[in-house]
Amino acid sequence: MERSFASWEKEAIRCIRCGACQNVCPVFKELQAESTVARGRVKLIRGIINKDLDITTGFINKMSLCLMCKACVTNCPSGVQVDKLVEAARKEIVEQKGLSPLKGMIFRFVLKNRRVFNTGMRTGRLFQGLLFRKGPSGQGMLPRMTLGIDKRRLLSPLASKPFKLLYPEIIKVPNAKMRVAFFTGCMINYIYTDTGTAVLNVLKQNGVEVVIPALQNCCGAPVRINGDYKTAQEMARANIDVLLKEEVDAVVVACGTCGLTLKEEYIELLAEDQIYAEKAKQLGSKVKDFTELVVALEGFQDKMGSLPFKVTYHDPCHLVRGLKVKDQPRQIIKSIPGVIFQEMNKPDTCCGSGGSFSLYHYELSTKINDNKVNDIVQTGAEVLVTGCSACRMQLIDGLNRQNLAVKVMHTAQLLEMAYEAVD
Ligand code: SF4
Ligand code: SF4
Repeated sequence: MERSFASWEKEAIRCIRCGACQNVCPVFKELQAESTVARGRVKLIRGIINKDLDITTGFINKMSLCLMCKACVTNCPSGVQVDKLVEAARKEIVEQKGLSPLKGMIFRFVLKNRRVFNTGMRTGRLFQGLLFRKGPSGQGMLPRMTLGIDKRRLLSPLASKPFKLLYPEIIKVPNAKMRVAFFTGCMINYIYTDTGTAVLNVLKQNGVEVVIPALQNCCGAPVRINGDYKTAQEMARANIDVLLKEEVDAVVVACGTCGLTLKEEYIELLAEDQIYAEKAKQLGSKVKDFTELVVALEGFQDKMGSLPFKVTYHDPCHLVRGLKVKDQPRQIIKSIPGVIFQEMNKPDTCCGSGGSFSLYHYELSTKINDNKVNDIVQTGAEVLVTGCSACRMQLIDGLNRQNLAVKVMHTAQLLEMAYEAVD
């Protein structure tokens, strides 16, 4: 039997109302409203569970104002799983009120169906010039009309060809040390193919054979986070089948959110599924972030050329607080000759992306992003490295709004550059 909304009361009553979450919540920092900090959200959710409150438009809006960044969870002396409570509330909202027609179409018709998604992206590529115009200084693109997205939101264009069509399904290397499956995620497949290419090149250089399963699909995180559990469960089962079919030592991801979803969220999502509960655990035990895998490879730091850059690093929320990957990207960056690594103030504070949060709450997301950009500027870095494509897009937008020429890239891309810089 699936976990009921009422059962979450046990989690909600663990909140001792100490207010420690106020110091770390990026949304509360900007809005200063009790209903937008963890303590206030938990109280509202208890009100709904106890039937003291109804699910109103105001409640739905307050639940949407959470970045799911887990900062409150990490800082909470009672360890209240606030993000899980918010997610349970969003699920209850979908069950009671249904999804908006737009979200329903995107989640249930597009994201769930690989073929429809591919066709949609192909069509989007053809028409992106009509719907978007070039961003200032030639970077990215801005919507010509609202399209449900704020017209000031700088987006990165769709790649001319999806990543999965650029490479064969198996990248063989002679005398391979190990064999891994690469779960690309949507943003690497359709937008940041340069990150995917860098992952392949780095793994090849280190003697790792890579399989890119053609039938993998979106991990389903946006669907689950928005409360559509039924669709998210179907997507999880499909990806589990595709990935467990491969005879590999590990499943590699280059995005914190995809990684956390495959490693931990599928296990929770399918805990009551008699067939898939065990399979989800099997998959979870194989999932590794790209940086975790690389630092464990003997000699990864050999044969690097020098890169004369000052570099700083932004910790994606789901990578640092979800998968607890903090040291590995820094170890990679610091191992590159010539690189000067400068830590920024609070590198693990959310950049304000929060998936669709940055689209629906652009103004607020921008203010949170501005704080992050200020911290980046203070370092004097020319290159900003991160481990998540959504953070990359958000940070490019923030830097661009302030006309800053800081180059943003994934850790894999910096490492690829170092390997290519060998004389
Ligand atoms: S830090 Fe935790 S216990 Fe304290 S008010 Fe926030 S959610 Fe409640
Ligand atoms: S998950 Fe992040 S945005 Fe949501 S309440 Fe906690 S600290 Fe605030």
